[in-house]
Amino acid sequence: MIDYIIVGAGLSGASFAYRLEKAGKSFLVFDDGSQEASKVAGGFMNPVILKRFTLAWKADSQLEKAYSFYSDMEEYLGKQFLSPLQVYRRFSSVEEQNNWFAAADKPRLAPFLDTKLVSQVNAHVLGKFGFGRVLKTSRIDPRYLLETYAAHLQEKGMLKNELFEYDYLEVSSEEVSYKNITAKKVIFCEGFGLQKNPFFNYLPLRGNKGEYIIIKAPGLDLEVGVKSSVFIFPAGGDHYAVGATYSNTDKSPQPTEEARQELVEKLKDLIDVDFEVVDQVAGLRPSTIDRRPLVGRHPEYSNLYTCNGFGSRGILIAPSVSEELLEYIEEDKNLDPEIDISRFTKKWYKRS
Ligand SMILES: Cc1cc2nc3c(=O)[nH]c(=O)nc-3n(C[C@H](O)[C@H](O)[C@H](O)COP(=O)(O)OP(=O)(O)OC[C@H]3O[C@@H](n4cnc5c(N)ncnc54)[C@H](O)[C@@H]3O)c2cc1C
Repeated sequence: MIDYIIVGAGLSGASFAYRLEKAGKSFLVFDDGSQEASKVAGGFMNPVILKRFTLAWKADSQLEKAYSFYSDMEEYLGKQFLSPLQVYRRFSSVEEQNNWFAAADKPRLAPFLDTKLVSQVNAHVLGKFGFGRVLKTSRIDPRYLLETYAAHLQEKGMLKNELFEYDYLEVSSEEVSYKNITAKKVIFCEGFGLQKNPFFNYLPLRGNKGEYIIIKAPGLDLEVGVKSSVFIFPAGGDHYAVGATYSNTDKSPQPTEEARQELVEKLKDLIDVDFEVVDQVAGLRPSTIDRRPLVGRHPEYSNLYTCNGFGSRGILIAPSVSEELLEYIEEDKNLDPEIDISRFTKKWYKRS
């Protein structure tokens, strides 16, 4: 009998697995590669919502935790995923500049918004109203992190690269059994894949598709990230990632021509050098109706849990929420009611 089965090795499942590993628990992770959100994520550790100059939900405290969590993982696995990345917001009007200053006056935002505006970040990045720098930003390379951690688990025989088939799960009050495995608990971390999970698909997970293009722009020579109507950041050599799109209607996993065109058009308004699109990626963000994660114990099956609903902020949320969930299960601590799925318990009993 093992302690845990984890379904999904995206940011949610990998963070929880890492916490279990550190806590000396036994576990087995299943991942079939059906969802890509974590791997295609930009990877920004940025607490500010750059559209409105507001602080993302609990982002200041999450930022500290995330930084130490990923640094710890780097040290443990002997690889580097974390790197500093300066991020600038391009202003499109004087009014936006004023909004930036107004935001920078707020005590919780002040540490993150530089009040010294700059007129240029690079000779080929256009911006007649200047740029504001977001402070304390960095980036993790999510694909590299997840692939490195998956290889580590694989080596220890703790990862199965296969579909978890819900029909084979048998749940009793003491344990669960799945094919030839028995475990004390299952943690479901399938991202948007949760919609296929008969135990948890009563939860209001929406799914929001995001796409990035990768461009080759030899003349650009940009070393920072810049956010305007799109975000552009260096992706190695003369390559840059440009994104992301947001769609609540298209739930297909494939990249689309429409998104490519949208990103190319927006990019032409941001840089004045020639570029070529060399790649495109897509993923479904597990977004929720109330913009809060979906975490906790199943209303009826006490050994089934979920850790999901990270929306567009998984990089910062995963380290904090995985810790909260582990303490909830192992130490009987309370879950923050804002993330606790008990807020949707009625939906389980009302399902048809
Ligand atoms: C284009 C884009 C850019 C983004 N940029 C950022 C960013 O810069 N910063 C940020 O914080 N967030 C960003 N996000 C959001 C972030 O990616 C998500 O919040 C996060 O990845 C969600 O992680 P997850 O582990 O819950 O889900 P997922 O990443 O979807 O992982 C779920 C995993 O479960 C597996 N799975 C599902 N069902 C099964 C099954 N039945 N059996 C076995 N395995 C299964 C899947 O294969 C997958 O590996 C971005 C998202 C997109 C799409």
